[in-house]
Amino acid sequence: MTETSTPRLYHGRRWNYFKDCLIERFGGVVYKVGVDAGFDCPNRDGKKAWGGCAYCSQQGSLSPHQDPKLGILEQIEKGRAFVRRRYKAEKFIVYYQAFTNTYAPVSVLRERFEPALIDDSIVGLSVASRPDCINEDNIGYLAELASRLPYFTVELGLQSVYQNRLAWVNRQESVEDYVRAMEMLNAAGVPVITHVILGFPGESRQDMEDTVRLANDMKTRGIKLQMLHVIKGTKLGVMYGREPFELMSMDEYLDTVIHMIERLSPEVEIHRITGETDSESLIAPDWTRQKAKFFESFDRELLARDTWQGRLV
Ligand code: SF4
Repeated sequence: MTETSTPRLYHGRRWNYFKDCLIERFGGVVYKVGVDAGFDCPNRDGKKAWGGCAYCSQQGSLSPHQDPKLGILEQIEKGRAFVRRRYKAEKFIVYYQAFTNTYAPVSVLRERFEPALIDDSIVGLSVASRPDCINEDNIGYLAELASRLPYFTVELGLQSVYQNRLAWVNRQESVEDYVRAMEMLNAAGVPVITHVILGFPGESRQDMEDTVRLANDMKTRGIKLQMLHVIKGTKLGVMYGREPFELMSMDEYLDTVIHMIERLSPEVEIHRITGETDSESLIAPDWTRQKAKFFESFDRELLARDTWQGRLV
């Protein structure tokens, strides 16, 4: 491990924030619009297990601002209106967010993905999936989308490299599944965003670092870091209600995220540094409601410590 001393800046920040990358690439504010396209998940329908991951909501992790009862085009219009109003977004990425969006034959994927490309304001798609749902049947279509569209990514849950933690949240997947999917997607030229959960009960700093390092070593294009938090309507919520487990404080989590990004390659775009849960759905920890405060503290603390993403790569 080598240590460098000149601060590296990314669009004026000390970390490579995905939203800044999009502004540079597309010349304006670009936002994701999450949709539920009617897919299921092998971890919910019995193929692998029933009931899904312990942290997954009944909406399959769909944004609370979205309505899964609407058709895809209506969801896109509703989502576009919302992010236009709230964030002054000018361009959009349709995010196939709910459940496992490659869990169907390619003909079905085409039917559900292609209509989203309504006009030039939609710069591309992002498709959330599980590593075990990337295969020889769909890799060709994913590669085609990656080469055809101005923006295309597949989002994969890794969450942890430790099997006992994956088992604790009923993930029903292995690290080998993630490595195999990454090798396949990398070879096909499909950029990947890896989802990681930090702060499983009993997890050491080194354990978390091991997970982030694997994503980094597998050349993930982007990463979503999320602290383990508990939301209503999940199995994790029931587990927490029966026997509350320890969750990180804001200061602990801040320190943890800084530790992780110091070891993350400069090329990795960071999509998220906290969870995305709305206040009404959150059970614990309470501080995760203060997303803006955390964000400010993060930038301030990087400056105060004179550190940055990639400093210890
Ligand atoms: S794999 Fe994704 S959609 Fe399926 S249960 Fe887990 S979090 Fe939910």
